[in-house]
Amino acid sequence: MTKSVLPLALAVGLFSVEASLAAVPTLAKTFDTNVTTVGMTSSQESKIQSAERKIRAVIGSEEFRTRVLNHTYAGKKQFLSNNGLTNAQIYQKILEGAEKLTPTKNNAMDITVKLYYQNSSTVGYTTTSSKVINMNTKFFNKYTSSEVAHNMMHEWMHKLGYSHTSYYTSSRIYSVPYALGKIMNELAPKY
Ligand SMILES: [Zn+2]
Repeated sequence: MTKSVLPLALAVGLFSVEASLAAVPTLAKTFDTNVTTVGMTSSQESKIQSAERKIRAVIGSEEFRTRVLNHTYAGKKQFLSNNGLTNAQIYQKILEGAEKLTPTKNNAMDITVKLYYQNSSTVGYTTTSSKVINMNTKFFNKYTSSEVAHNMMHEWMHKLGYSHTSYYTSSRIYSVPYALGKIMNELAPKY
């Protein structure tokens, strides 16, 4: 009788692992990052590579999927400034990776990261007409790779066409760039 206990426990364990993985779509597992860097030292370069690895791992995770699908603003499952899209549609668009300037659905984050220095409180910025994400070395150099991943995710959401107010509001954190940046910031240290 005791001999049957172990195989049964293993079977139950395997089943639950398969059940949880089944919820993550293939596009999440195959998500890639194509980041071009401009004028970086090798240590700045490796921080970007570490951030890319974290972004791929987070986007491929079940927790990321759950966090995006269940994001709540004003008592409803939604994002602020969502371009009329549901949480599920926003999740799908992240996986597709079709930037406004490079609209092919290539299942990847396609960005160029350029460093600059300015003695200001601006961490980084981007403009709608450019693929380039500008990051201030005043912050970049002291940031962990998870914080850089947070920053890249926020700016990449702009590349996918989402925006937020340029001035502070109490609800701005629920916009797609801020909310996805926050999700990345919270999950990236796990990878
Ligand atoms: Zn922004």
